[in-house]
Amino acid sequence: MIIKPKLWQIPTPNQQVDEQLDEKIRLLQARLYQIFHKHQCVKVANSLAAEDVLMIDVLAKLGVSAQIFTLDTGRLNAETVSLFDEIKQRYPNLVFERYEPQAQAVASYISTHGENAFYDGVDLRKQCCFIRKVEPLGRALLGADAWLTGQRRQQSATRDALAFFEHDTLHQLAKYNPIYDWSEQQVWAYVLKFGLPYNALYEQGYPSIGCQPCTLPVKAGDDIRTGRWWWESKDSKECGLHQSSVHQIKQQDS
Ligand code: SF4
Repeated sequence: MIIKPKLWQIPTPNQQVDEQLDEKIRLLQARLYQIFHKHQCVKVANSLAAEDVLMIDVLAKLGVSAQIFTLDTGRLNAETVSLFDEIKQRYPNLVFERYEPQAQAVASYISTHGENAFYDGVDLRKQCCFIRKVEPLGRALLGADAWLTGQRRQQSATRDALAFFEHDTLHQLAKYNPIYDWSEQQVWAYVLKFGLPYNALYEQGYPSIGCQPCTLPVKAGDDIRTGRWWWESKDSKECGLHQSSVHQIKQQDS
């Protein structure tokens, strides 16, 4: 008999996390207010993850005019793509944009290396991520003087020193990670408490969801990004979207 491993599950809320949640939300609102007060044009990355929907929900409740962009790589799961419209309909007062890779660059990569050449090495994987994510990100950020991400420290070994504020040297912009210090349990406590839409793949053992061919479900207890580029070592598990930040400064929350 084959025993299937127990997969990661959406954390169930507990009393301690629930009690901390109001204070976490208050701090997050203060951080977002500070950012939108300081900058003229703030763009918000929406990878359609639970963290991003949480931030969009808080922004909508604050009533700020945020421009929210999604990088549609062309290799996303159907479950992920369908969430885009659901979020857009839920927040009619926010501006949502979708950026796709340049068709010529995709065609050239496929004809030279093959459609799934990213399995053949880190360089070819990073080339694919550059074409489908990094280059479109540059277009998405045009005109902005700051951008926000839903990255958290606990997500992976590559993010354990993540700070609230970074200077994005590649795009010459301020970059903020307003929920850098939220735990997975706190994120899900918020999502479930306010009934936010979320990707159906979370219920199939996917704690971190990227492109379909590069993401697997993970076992309970594993690092939550284990299923991203599962064939690579954990030190290379970034797509290049967050490569350029230096001068990290921890925020002093009051
Ligand atoms: S995650 Fe995979 S399919 Fe998506 S852009 Fe990167 S290498 Fe390509």
